[in-house]
Amino acid sequence: MYRKVLSILTDQNKLRTVSEPFPDVESWNEDHKSAIRDLVDTFNVIQGLGLAAPQIGIQKRAVIVNPAQLGIPQKSESLILINPEIKTSGDVKRSKEACFSVPYVDGFVERPQQCEVSYFDESGNPHTLKAEGYAAVCLQHEIDHLDGVLYIDRMGSLSRKMLLKKVEKAEKRRSEAARLARESFDNDHRSLTGARPQKTTHSKKRKPKVRKQRPKRSKKGK
Ligand code: ZN
Repeated sequence: MYRKVLSILTDQNKLRTVSEPFPDVESWNEDHKSAIRDLVDTFNVIQGLGLAAPQIGIQKRAVIVNPAQLGIPQKSESLILINPEIKTSGDVKRSKEACFSVPYVDGFVERPQQCEVSYFDESGNPHTLKAEGYAAVCLQHEIDHLDGVLYIDRMGSLSRKMLLKKVEKAEKRRSEAARLARESFDNDHRSLTGARPQKTTHSKKRKPKVRKQRPKRSKKGK
């Protein structure tokens, strides 16, 4: 089932929570199974490079990535990593990141350029994956989510504050546009059903200014 992606603006506490590990696959209950199904279903809808379970309100340690886009050799369209453990290495470089939970913006973050991740698949089989460059960055970004860490937390505090202000402004513009579209839709619907349209708050019509006509001077008297 598709689940809405949580936003830093409305679900800060959930996004900041450390997620619980999955038990051994033999002990999975329906919640564990549906958590993985929902992660896959949501990722199929929103696409992107990766998504972590807590981003859709599931406080469990699982992430999904798109291996083709990250250059990770894999037969399947998506790769699910359950209880991933990451070890980073290599040079630290700055690269641009974005996140579904920090909408509208992107920003530069420094991260090690190599990593090794050990994880379990949905059948409980253990695997190890080595990645470098942007794939290593993406895996670190997604696995950070499981510890309640967002990429903006790895920036300087000034950059983070500026980015969050941008997010807030963009969200205000979006919700205002949505409100106007809703009002316009409601009015269209009313006019179709013969009901009186409601005044939209943005279109208060001002009274047209009436210019006072000055009496024309008579040309008499010269
Ligand atoms: Zn993210």
